[in-house]
Amino acid sequence: MNVESFNLDHRTVVAPYVRIADRKELPGGDVLTKLDVRFTQPNVAHLASEAVHSLEHMMAEHMRNHSNDVLDVSPMGCRTGFYVLLVGDHTPEAFAPVLEATMRDLIAADDVPAANEIQCGWGAHHTLEGAQTAAQEFLDQRDSWGQVTAS
Ligand SMILES: [Zn+2]
Repeated sequence: MNVESFNLDHRTVVAPYVRIADRKELPGGDVLTKLDVRFTQPNVAHLASEAVHSLEHMMAEHMRNHSNDVLDVSPMGCRTGFYVLLVGDHTPEAFAPVLEATMRDLIAADDVPAANEIQCGWGAHHTLEGAQTAAQEFLDQRDSWGQVTAS
């Protein structure tokens, strides 16, 4: 199929993990890297909708304090993780410190940025505590981010 993740057997992965979902070389020679940042085990667990939304806001804002290459942070529709689109060639290993720093910032934050009707399409649909709990659980398993499958 056309979409990389549609060719991934989601039964074989072990969340949390970080893997390259796509890599595109542009006509000018520049490269884009898309990371699959998986928080919960596919088809077993998923994040609450409000937590996904707040994590999206917080990752999008805080991650840019640690990397100038962040083009986009988007939630997966299945609510098990996020795609992080980056300018340039990136490996999950090399990007892990940015993710870790982002999680630490997020856990220490006092609010969800832009969680209001002016800056967001559903300003009431947020949970700081839910986002921080999910971030802490993800961070607690930092050592296994590099292991995508069981074998
Ligand atoms: Zn929003």
